[in-house]
Amino acid sequence: MMAPETMAEPRKDTPKAQRLTAVKGMNDIFPPESSQWEWFEQHVREVMGSFAYGSIRTPILEHTQLFVKGTGETTDIVEKEMYSFEDRLNGEHLTLRPENTPGVVRAAIEHNLTYDGGKRLYYVGPMFRHERPQRGRYRQFYQVGAEALGVAGAETDAELIVLAAELLQRVGLPGIRVELNSLGIAAERQQHRQALIAYFERHAGMLDADAQRRLHTNPLRILDTKNPAMQDMVREAPELLGFLGDSSLKHLETVKALLTCSGVPWTVNPRAVRGLDYYSHTVFEFVTDELGAQGTLCGGGRYDGLFEVLGGKATPAVGWGMGIERVLELVRVRGLAAPAPAPDVYAVVPDAAAYPSAFKTLQALRQQGVRVQMHAGAQDGVGSMKSQFKRADASGARFALVFGASELALGQVTVKALRDGQGAQSTRPLDQVDGWARTLQSQTLSDS
Ligand code: ATP
Ligand code: MG
Repeated sequence: MMAPETMAEPRKDTPKAQRLTAVKGMNDIFPPESSQWEWFEQHVREVMGSFAYGSIRTPILEHTQLFVKGTGETTDIVEKEMYSFEDRLNGEHLTLRPENTPGVVRAAIEHNLTYDGGKRLYYVGPMFRHERPQRGRYRQFYQVGAEALGVAGAETDAELIVLAAELLQRVGLPGIRVELNSLGIAAERQQHRQALIAYFERHAGMLDADAQRRLHTNPLRILDTKNPAMQDMVREAPELLGFLGDSSLKHLETVKALLTCSGVPWTVNPRAVRGLDYYSHTVFEFVTDELGAQGTLCGGGRYDGLFEVLGGKATPAVGWGMGIERVLELVRVRGLAAPAPAPDVYAVVPDAAAYPSAFKTLQALRQQGVRVQMHAGAQDGVGSMKSQFKRADASGARFALVFGASELALGQVTVKALRDGQGAQSTRPLDQVDGWARTLQSQTLSDS
């Protein structure tokens, strides 16, 4: 029992509750925009299915060490973008996933997913990075990703790129440019690294603070700099491509040839190095000029070294991650957004006494696949017919179903066209819903 004093009216001078807002850089997604997301995710499921990829769901929280090791200690992500905290209850160091490749690989090792050969997996979900929020860059954002585990051949790299291109094409974005590069194998990167350090040392005066710090930890990352003052110098730096041996070059040539025969446009960008440490051979990005500074839609590559870094057996693997906000923004910029789905029918209920009949009929219609929005009344009544029809119009429904008392008495309901053939109406029997449900999914009353 509630104590009587807790039920007392609040005192007049009680301060108004503080209004809380979402965390900066984290977005609420609601109708009609949320239907764009569902539309995109539906395409993801179809395209992934058509390439025989199965979905994997891993936890959003992982041990911080997973990303320190798997993403790489010297990456921007680990150095400055992770949401990490100590679990108050047991002192564990945890991190909200900033990307999902390490999580997928951890799961694959933990459950021995590649025991009988390759595993092709995809995911869709939120990632978290503490970055400066701006268009196309958020602190909680969503990625769709695909990972092919346990497969070494260049044809899988190509197939994954074709998969990403196909997904973009299905949502109305054909022909997005792929920038390709190869990071070769460890020995080739080692030679290149020596040459790179020597080159940057000769230009030490031009290095900014970030670059100086990276010179001996991760000089490859300097090529990734966004500092305009360093661009000219970086452009002249020795290219990793020049250090590749025959086998690495052949891998890259195979990828190019398979992309060409699939009609996916590509260019080689020798400076596309990706920010992550575990890549080898193929790396790639899908890039557009239509989104300002945040023009990279998708990035990925081969990460043959990652399984071992995370304590597993050596296992070749390749994958990519695509930013869903950026893709949907490009869809919007190009004016391609799919129309938000409206209900087929709005149920007008002139008197609350009609709800029991309405509930039965509407449920039968929904079971026939009709999309129904029921008029919802206020505490003191259902509102005038005029206001109900106004709502019916605003809902976007093509038909109103009117549960008037006189028709109900005859076991009928009135169907009224709201759009095409506006005003046309007819009555339908309540006990034979199956016979006319289809009409409500068509364009006009006369369609069936
Ligand atoms: P950028 O250079 O734009 O920071 P990145 O190299 O950090 O990208 P990846 O780690 O490769 O990005 O992530 C894959 C994709 O996820 C990106 O190509 C982008 O579309 C998207 N993405 C990355 N960070 C964000 C973010 N903070 N907000 C929205 N989308 C993002
Ligand atoms: Mg980034």
